[in-house]
This record gives sequence, C-alpha cells and structure tokens, in this order.
Amino acid sequence: MPIRLLTDTLANQIAAGEVIERPASVVKELVENSLDAGASNIRIEAVDAGLTKLVVQDDGCGIPKDELLLALTRHATSKIASTEDLFNIHTFGFRGEALPSIAAVARLTLASRARGAAEAWEVRPDGQVHPAALPHGTRLEVADVFYATPARRKFLKSPRAEAMALHDVLHKFALAQPQVALTLVEDGVESWHIPAAQGDFLHAATPRLASLMGDDFARQALVLNAERGGENGATLHGFLSPPTLHAGTTRQQFMFVNGRAVKDRQLQTALKNAYADRIPAGRHPMAVLFITLPPSEVDVNVHPAKTEVRFRDGGNLFGLVYGAVRQALHQHTPVVPRPVASSFVPVAMPSQPPVYAATTVQSLNLQTPPEKLWKGGTPPAMGTEEHQGYNQQPTTHNASLGAALGQIANTYIVAETADGNLTLVDQHAAHERLVYEGLKAQFTAGRIASQPLLLPVVVPLTPAETNLMMAHAAELEKFGFGLEQHSPSSIAVVAVPQLLGDTNPTTLLRDVVDDVAELAPRTTLHSKLEHVLATLACHHSIRAHRRLSLAEQNALLRQMEASPNCLTCNHGRPTAVTVTLAELEKLFERR
Ligand code: ADP
Ligand code: MG
Repeated sequence: MPIRLLTDTLANQIAAGEVIERPASVVKELVENSLDAGASNIRIEAVDAGLTKLVVQDDGCGIPKDELLLALTRHATSKIASTEDLFNIHTFGFRGEALPSIAAVARLTLASRARGAAEAWEVRPDGQVHPAALPHGTRLEVADVFYATPARRKFLKSPRAEAMALHDVLHKFALAQPQVALTLVEDGVESWHIPAAQGDFLHAATPRLASLMGDDFARQALVLNAERGGENGATLHGFLSPPTLHAGTTRQQFMFVNGRAVKDRQLQTALKNAYADRIPAGRHPMAVLFITLPPSEVDVNVHPAKTEVRFRDGGNLFGLVYGAVRQALHQHTPVVPRPVASSFVPVAMPSQPPVYAATTVQSLNLQTPPEKLWKGGTPPAMGTEEHQGYNQQPTTHNASLGAALGQIANTYIVAETADGNLTLVDQHAAHERLVYEGLKAQFTAGRIASQPLLLPVVVPLTPAETNLMMAHAAELEKFGFGLEQHSPSSIAVVAVPQLLGDTNPTTLLRDVVDDVAELAPRTTLHSKLEHVLATLACHHSIRAHRRLSLAEQNALLRQMEASPNCLTCNHGRPTAVTVTLAELEKLFERR
C-alpha cells in the first residue's frame, strides 16, 4: 500500500479509540465539558445504559452559533492557546478531541445557546446547522454509540455492566463537584438526583459518599485534612476507612487531583504503606482523597483520557499522603509504645548455661570509694521498697545472671546470683547484642520486621549513592527498610527495622549507605549479613546513661540469658563480668 494521509474520519476514529471506550466514557467527556462551561445543573439521560442514546444537558456558558461547527473539529478548543497554558491547565479539557471523536463513532447532535444570545442553534449529524429550542446552555445528544465502528461495539459488556460503569462515573463527579446538581434519567425514569450542596467541601461531600463507597464506609470513615505549605504547597482532604474496614482490591480507592479523578501508583503506595501494619496482609484500605495543588505542579498531558497525571514533586506529595494518613490512623487508634525491654522477643533458651566471657576483678576501680561509684542517688538501704522488691524475686535470684540490685553510673547493672556471686552488665552493649540477635533471628526466619515511620524522613545523598541505594531497595526491604526515591539526590525513608525503636533514620541510613557502598560489584547485602546487622544493632534504643527501673534491669538480664551469644557485644567486648564470692572474699582478705 502506498503511504497516504489518514482521512479526517479515520483519524477521528483512531482518536476515539483512545478516549471513547464505552458509553460511560462519553458521559465522562460530556460532563467534563459542562463543568468547564461553568454549569451548575447537569442532566444526563441514558437509554439502554447509553448504548441507544445518551443526552447531556447543562446550563453553562454555551457555544456561539459561529463556533458550533468548530467545536466538532479535531484540535479545536477554547481552553488553551499557548505552550505555557499547556503546563498550567485549569480545565478538564484542553485537547479538543472529545466532540470530534464522539462524532466519528456515533450520531451526534450539538445544540447550544450562548450566554446573552437570543436564540439556540444546533448542528445535526449531517453537519447542517438549524435553529433549535433550548434555554441557555448546551445539549449534546449521542445516538447509536459505535454504529460507525461495529468492531468496538463487540467489546462492550452487558447493559447492566455498562450502566454500572456509567453510575461510577457520575458518583465520582458527585463527590468531587458538590457544588453542582446532577440528575440521571434512565430509560425515561429519573433514577438519581443529587442537589447542589453548600458550605465546606468535605461537609458537602459527606452525604455523597455512600453511593460510591457504600454505607459502612460513609458511616465509619475517618476524615483527613492536611496541608503542605509553601509556594507550591498542596492540600489534602478526604475520607479513610478505619483499620477495621478493608477491601480485597484497590478498586475502592479514589483519588482526585484538582477535581480530576486519577489513578496514581505512587499515591496508592503511600496509602498502602500508611496502613501496612494496621490491616491484615493482602487487604487494602478504602479511601477518597482530594488533592489540590497549583496546576503548574501537575502535568495532565500524559494520558489521552487524562486518568493519569505526572507530578513535578511526587516525593513531597507521597510524604504528604503517607504522613497525613498515618497521623489520622494514629489519632484514631493511638499505638501504645511498647516498653523497650519487651520489644525484644527472646530467641531460644541456650542449652548450656552461659559461660561468662570475663571474670576479672581488675576492672573494678578499687581506689574509688563505693559511695562515689553509685551515681544514681543514695543506694537503697536494707528494708527499703526497692530492696524488698529484689528479695521478693527468688526465681530471678536463681537465674544465671542473678537478680538486679541496681545500677552504677546509669550504665552498669549490678546483680547478685544465688551463689552470692556479683554480676556486672554493660547495659548498652548487652542491649546492642540482644537487638543484633533478634535481627538475625528475624532475618533467618524470612525478613526483618519493619516499622513504618509516622512521617517519612528525606535523607539527602549524592546522586550516585541514591542510585546505589535504590538498586538495593528491594534487598533492603528484607532488612526492614522502606525506601522511596525522593529526588535524583535524596531518598525518603518510610520504614525502619522495628527492633531499632525510635532510632534516627538519617544517621541510620547513612551508615547503611556506607555498608552498601563497600559491597563488591554484583554481590548482595546478604554476603555481609553479620556486618550489616551489627551496623543496624548499633542504632538501638537503650542508650548508655539511662536510668532503668529494677524491673527493666531484670528484664534485660532475663533476655540475655535467653539469647545465645549474648555475652559479648558485637564488637567482641564482654557484656557481662562476674566477680565470684571467693574473689570478693579475697579482696577483703577473708581468705
Ligand atoms: P476540549 O474540551 O478539550 O476543549 P472538546 O472536543 O471536548 O474539547 O470540546 C471542544 C470545545 O467545544 C470546547 O473547547 C468548548 O469550547 C466547546 N464545548 C464543548 N462542550 C461544551 C459545553 N457543554 N458548553 C460550552 N462549550 C462547550
Ligand atoms: Mg472536552
């Protein structure tokens, strides 16, 4: 076949293939045009779910007689005039393709009476212009959808499915445009009418929720209100399912960007991550999110039907959605922070009683008078409450590390064993070792448990480091990290290993970057497992110099006994030191 230009009809039919998939997409395009025209009342009539006939009539600004034929021409629009406009879109339409596309696959009649015009005019399917009877506004009648492209007609679903698709489209408009009254007439019967609502946007949207999201959601939804300030700031409003309500798919997640219904994987991920530890695995939250931001921050010229958009600063928006949803869920059911000591699950009892790594007495500075060693206040006297507490714990007294008596310098735990031996434990080193063992046990069992952050933390890195980390992101997920690329030179930390408690995500990530950077090419983090786990364990939550209650001290000792290899810290230093009764007696020259 020789090369030739497509005819206008064929070109329009190809364009229609992209935007006009089914009767519901005709309704979407026409209602968008009505909204762009500033309509406050829109009436939709469908016969046979729109397959036989669809009529959309509005009270918007109308089209002057001399522009009617132009409106049906491809690439004719009143909405943009320059490239600058293209990147600052304030309307739903701008491509000038909907009307010619519809006219190419169906019989279209366009009637309109422009504001201030004395009479109405209409263009019939044959292209002739005739006087018409119409109040101010526009009326589009679309008959026999796909009569001109019968192949497309074969792809349509049952009239019932097409009607449902049409309802979905209208329910979405109803939610995002509460200022507009919508009426649906199906096969001659008014089946649905939603009057215009006044006042606060969310307030107005609330009664419209049930038709799209169901009654349960409408009754129980949590309200979301958040804002990211600044020149290019964004606001986020919406409704969320409480953690007790979830769905099997993401179909019940609706996102509107500047009033436009869009699908966005990144925002869906933000939502998913925010609910991660709140709903059962494999279930999905339900949500309606309205995001408003300056039009120059969104590129809507990505998808012919404009159901996908591109954000100039996707990372920021991700953070806004994730943070706000997290916060809303948190306020709904506050997470009770677990005490540090019990955040560690004992791994297994060692079969052999632990052997102390060192039993040196030299480490005790005998030059220092005992009362100076005690920095935590006056030591509890015999018979005081604290001392009794210890006496009432004969079982811990029998444990190998003994029962805690107290703390020295808020750093060392002093304990007495049943045999009268003295145990000293470096609480910082011990906890670090416990965290290390816990991480290792989790990793061996599959993956390290992850804790989503309330607010993601953006860590600036070099572009090379950013690429490197993103290349290992999937592997780092097994180590409990949630990382999202935020910009070419920064990463948003959205989750950290749960066992690390409230660690500083920035310093933590930087340390991990160092570990990853040291990897030989084409090797995995697994090859340096011990090293990486040690890096993580360094960022644990008990710091040295923290006052611990006797209960916390004993809990730490019991956990150490339950964990293999706990008697040296990750750096090989001892975590516990014992002075036997015999050694004590020698010190006092009793022997
Ligand atoms: P677009 O919406 O991308 O501009 P369309 O093909 O949907 O392209 O519409 C072409 C033009 O026809 C619009 O730019 C607008 O000027 C006019 N138009 C379409 N529908 C209406 C309406 N309901 N009310 C007023 N003007 C309309
Ligand atoms: Mg349009």
